Amino acid sequence: MKRDGNLNSFWQDTAPLHLPLSKTIYSKMHFDAVVIGGGITGVTTALMLQLAGKKCLLLEANKIGFGTTAGTSAHLNSVLDTPYSDIIDKCGKEVAKKVAGSALEAIQIIKQFVKKYKIECEFEEVRGYMYATDEQEEKELNNIYQAIGQVGLPTSYTSDIGIPIQFTKAIYFDQQARFNPLKYVQSLLDVYIKNGGRILENESMQNIDDEEGNLKVVGENFTFTASRVVHATHTYTGINKLNFKLGPYRSYVLAVELQNPGDYPEGLIYDMKEPFHYLRKASDDLGDVLIVGGEDHKTGQEENTQYCFKNLEAFVRKHFAVKSIRNTWSSQYYESTDALPYIGALSTENPKEFVATGFSGNGMIFGTLSAKIISDLILTGESPYADIYTPLRNSPIAGFKAFVSENINVVKRLIGDRFKKETMDELAALSPGEGKVVSYEEESLAIYKDDAGKVYALDPVCKHAGCIVQWNNAEKSWDCPCHGARYGIDGAMLNGPTRLPLDRFDLTEMK
Ligand SMILES: Cc1cc2nc3c(=O)[nH]c(=O)nc-3n(C[C@H](O)[C@H](O)[C@H](O)COP(=O)(O)OP(=O)(O)OC[C@H]3O[C@@H](n4cnc5c(N)ncnc54)[C@H](O)[C@@H]3O)c2cc1C
Repeated sequence: MKRDGNLNSFWQDTAPLHLPLSKTIYSKMHFDAVVIGGGITGVTTALMLQLAGKKCLLLEANKIGFGTTAGTSAHLNSVLDTPYSDIIDKCGKEVAKKVAGSALEAIQIIKQFVKKYKIECEFEEVRGYMYATDEQEEKELNNIYQAIGQVGLPTSYTSDIGIPIQFTKAIYFDQQARFNPLKYVQSLLDVYIKNGGRILENESMQNIDDEEGNLKVVGENFTFTASRVVHATHTYTGINKLNFKLGPYRSYVLAVELQNPGDYPEGLIYDMKEPFHYLRKASDDLGDVLIVGGEDHKTGQEENTQYCFKNLEAFVRKHFAVKSIRNTWSSQYYESTDALPYIGALSTENPKEFVATGFSGNGMIFGTLSAKIISDLILTGESPYADIYTPLRNSPIAGFKAFVSENINVVKRLIGDRFKKETMDELAALSPGEGKVVSYEEESLAIYKDDAGKVYALDPVCKHAGCIVQWNNAEKSWDCPCHGARYGIDGAMLNGPTRLPLDRFDLTEMK
């Protein structure tokens, strides 16, 4: 199966799609709910609504699992990436307690689905560990320890974290879990289809209009109506104030075979670095691997993304005897400005559209929780978590420097413009596999040369808010530094918030 990057994740290799999906376009039909986005959030939401008797359509621009759900590391942790000490500072103790309770509930929802539908996805309840390696980190760890206790999650200090990494202080917390995300999502999808749920893949939502009490959902090849629409696209696609309250980040992951079988951790492990490393074990027919992640940075703001893999590999080799590296991949997440995700109605004027975004590195948990909150809101109008996570709450606007500097006036150019061969030859003096934004007669071009020497030229102006995209040499994509929209070498949309591909320039003359 394909993912929104050039590199294959461990999950892609272990969980091929097994259900033949319908090719019906369903145009002009009416649905109780259209769920846009076929990751863990969309699939779980569509399933919950379908099981409750609603007629649902799950719409996916690519293939189910194409987004971050195939690029995750799949820790199921109630001790979230944002420390509870920060959540208490920003939102208060009572909210932080509810957040902790909601995270535990999400793990239980996954556990119950696994049990009820006998899902084989290597779900296992395990312990989580966090460790410090110097005095400064110890101080921070003590704060986190206190805060975890304050929100009602049991935690203790420990002298054993189960891996051969030296540390000075460590804590553990129970009731965490791990699983294979794609096996899980594909099994939920099977249940959804068996219960009458419909799926439309390889078709993208391009517009939604409120029309005579219903929502008209429009794509290139379809128009259908819905009573409710759920935007489960990881970030809201299109222009919305939420775009200005979310920061897009890339994170890097390796699946590593170790020489010593005793070195694989049973638990979920986190260090205290900035950005921190996260470790867990996973298994397939070939054996165990250590899944290690880290090296996060703002999307489109790292010149050489290959370095991130090099640094991560150096971290692993420093602590473990490595037999082989089976997979390297990176993926995208979105962080909100007040540490909590945005889940619920999109606006007061339009309570028929729902959104689920800003999960940071906890989208297995928050995606599942979104499904519960949004399906409760659609089915009953209420959710005990509605107030905490509402997208309508006051939260700060992100002051991203890059957005201000990059969001310049954009000169619109015509697709199909042709460029003089001689000039382009010069511009295209790139190594095979290299991409670059270059200037051409006072304008800019995003050019990429593939391994066979074919040159692709795109308008580098992001279709979302007009920033200039940057080349990502690890995933071979064009990434926007402002709101995280990403495009393939041919300009195809990989990640929102864009709804459209980049404009292409015709280089047929170049052959
Ligand atoms: C490296 C990394 C490690 C992570 N590790 C963890 C972890 O250990 N634990 C954890 O809980 N979380 C983790 N996360 C976060 C988590 O993986 C994500 O938050 C989660 O997968 C998001 O799921 P989703 O269904 O909301 O979005 P996605 O899986 O991204 O799915 C969105 C889908 O929407 C589709 N789409 C977009 N626009 C349109 C459109 N216009 N029309 C139709 N379809 C559209 C896309 O094609 C895509 O398939 C990690 C994230 C990263 C980057």
